[in-house]
Amino acid sequence: MIRYVAVGTGTVVPEGDRGMSAHFLEVGGRRVLLDCGPGTVQGLARHGLPWEELTDLCLTHFHPDHVGALPGLLFSLKHAAGPAREGRELTVRGPPGTAALFDRLASALGDFIVDPGFPVTIRESEPGGEEELGGGLRLRTHATPHTDESRALRLDAGEVAVGYTGDTGPEPGLESFFSDVGLLVAECSLTDDEVGENHLSPSRVARLARGAGPELLALTHIYPHVRRGHDVPALVRAAGWTGRVRVARDGWEHHLRTNTNARS
Ligand SMILES: [Zn+2]
Repeated sequence: MIRYVAVGTGTVVPEGDRGMSAHFLEVGGRRVLLDCGPGTVQGLARHGLPWEELTDLCLTHFHPDHVGALPGLLFSLKHAAGPAREGRELTVRGPPGTAALFDRLASALGDFIVDPGFPVTIRESEPGGEEELGGGLRLRTHATPHTDESRALRLDAGEVAVGYTGDTGPEPGLESFFSDVGLLVAECSLTDDEVGENHLSPSRVARLARGAGPELLALTHIYPHVRRGHDVPALVRAAGWTGRVRVARDGWEHHLRTNTNARS
């Protein structure tokens, strides 16, 4: 089973009830955070998630709304986690440049970034690879047209899978990359009229979902003026997606089980 919890479903625009990008997965003994935007540490605590016991952190790209809470997370893990953290390794997986990012943060803020009192391992990989996280959980990555280093993530555990676009412009290769995932967490930043080449819009998300065929499509990273001004799932349906779709909110939880129907 994969337990998914939305931790931060906002954008770079601060909102009182939405942190910036962060998503939590629990599979067997693995406790995995995807991205770590501002608000992540409080969000993990607010939703009762075992932040002290994180085993894996997977980064999509280096925009601050996706990595801005890294120092706070590591400072909390060092000083506030207590015995739950002792000896528990944290493996950070990210694009090339991840180790340099951590080194620069350590230079500016202190050695706790790379040596917080428990082992921190940083594994960089080019997009397109596949990694075993342990506990039967596999991570795959796919380059996205957003920044030089940006990538989408797919996590498979047995027969169930979660896909996360990170930030991306239109990329046809993502349709097969996300093929048949149980849950696709897709950014939907702006309307079709507003969007540039580096983000998704309702029509682009609909095209991606039609190609990938997820059981459930959850929209995240929607700019607040778009969410307030439109019924975004209705726009995605009008653009041709006939499957299940909803807007993710912070704290929303979804379980994916093998050979049974997923439930929200
Ligand atoms: Zn970004």
